Amino acid sequence: MGSSTTKRPVERFEAIIVGGGMVGTTLCALLAQAGMQVALVEAQSAPLRLDGAVSQLPAPRVSALTPVSQRLLTQLGVWTDMQQLRVTPYRGMQVWDAEGSGEIAFSADEAGVAVLGHIVENSVTQAALNRQVIDHPQVTAFFGQPIKALQRATGRATSRADSGDWLILEDGRQLQAPLIVAADGAHSALREMAGMEVSHDDMQQDAVVTTVRCDKPHGGIARQAFIDGRPLAFLPLTVDGDKRYCSIVWSTTPAHAAQLCELSRDALGDVLGEAINDRLGKVVACDKAYRFSLVQRHARHYVQPHVALVGDAAHSIHPLAGQGVNLGLMDAAVLAEEVLLAWRRGAPWGEMNTLKRYERRRRLDNSAMLGLMKGFKVLFGSHDPALTLARNLGMSGMNQMVPLKRILMRQATGERGRLPLSCR
Ligand SMILES: Cc1cc2nc3c(=O)[nH]c(=O)nc-3n(C[C@H](O)[C@H](O)[C@H](O)COP(=O)(O)OP(=O)(O)OC[C@H]3O[C@@H](n4cnc5c(N)ncnc54)[C@H](O)[C@@H]3O)c2cc1C
Repeated sequence: MGSSTTKRPVERFEAIIVGGGMVGTTLCALLAQAGMQVALVEAQSAPLRLDGAVSQLPAPRVSALTPVSQRLLTQLGVWTDMQQLRVTPYRGMQVWDAEGSGEIAFSADEAGVAVLGHIVENSVTQAALNRQVIDHPQVTAFFGQPIKALQRATGRATSRADSGDWLILEDGRQLQAPLIVAADGAHSALREMAGMEVSHDDMQQDAVVTTVRCDKPHGGIARQAFIDGRPLAFLPLTVDGDKRYCSIVWSTTPAHAAQLCELSRDALGDVLGEAINDRLGKVVACDKAYRFSLVQRHARHYVQPHVALVGDAAHSIHPLAGQGVNLGLMDAAVLAEEVLLAWRRGAPWGEMNTLKRYERRRRLDNSAMLGLMKGFKVLFGSHDPALTLARNLGMSGMNQMVPLKRILMRQATGERGRLPLSCR
């Protein structure tokens, strides 16, 4: 708890969003475009702009965005900017078990969709989202302002305007709103200040990410090999029409990740190419590698009076199915839908009746996805010969079953459950 001894006047908003990452900024755009007065509080000192979003070589952090996320970003007016910067569609997926013969392939045609998704540098999505909110008349943005404390409102509110908790920023400013949203990532300070419990599941893997250029074009196919239970993804990137770039995500043991990061770029490129049996020919160029530790986290509750968690602040998930930010964008869309419904009716939008509806609509879906990722890791990490045989037969068998694959594809492309209007 911080003190409110500073003489600065309290600045009041209808919602405060802490964290201007992809999820927080999406929520901010949804609320502001509907007419709410929103404060966006971000620790980093300056927002990324469109002119600084891409360089010749793609950035190492990318996301596979589902068609459902694409629809949301389109409705927000963000997708056109993203397309102009750089997005790479993929119409096929290949997943195989490097320890056996199991292989499964998915295609947009089989799934009856135009694309299975797009690989997009996070900087592209972020800069395009920033453009929608930074100068928006309904948004007050506080950059370079990590939050310092959360002060809880005591007693009952007397009016809609003065209800809610107080946030103290680094420079002593005080912000108040009926709803304060934590979108400040996996290590959320706001979640901690609100005393919201989170479960941790150390996946005992680190992700190594980099960008490579291969001999052969990627053909618009996202590839993933399970090598001794360690998923290695080659995600297609097209740079100025050149389709030979791939973004790499190799989730592996921390020791192996450390070894990979110590290799020279040429040596790392060779290892990566060989690891997928040179399916794209030799790796001819490899960028610097970065390493992230992988811990699945899930908050026990997403809401309490006047506070809600979204995105990685609510859940962080293994990247093997490329779902993390997609789940977060869905949180933002559902929370915005429920909050705006109450706000338009003049009902208290930061109270539990409203917030619980958001939690009910999102927690189960996120929980199922977190469980699935854990199951995959166990299945593909096993050396048990029976399990190895079963998964290889299972993959090859499933490859023949088009209706089942169609169901899987609908899940992977985000077409699950009751979608918010902004994603339809
Ligand atoms: C290797 C790897 C590969 C991945 N690949 C994919 C993929 O293919 N597809 C996919 O969907 N997801 C993927 N993810 C997951 C995805 O990157 C995350 O789910 C997503 O970035 C989370 O977004 P967020 O906005 O919730 O949080 P963050 O991106 O963490 O943003 C949080 C923001 O809050 C700010 N902040 C932090 N603390 C404070 C504070 N105290 N006060 C104010 N501001 C603060 C930060 O500066 C930051 O801007 C991957 C993750 C990893 C590690």
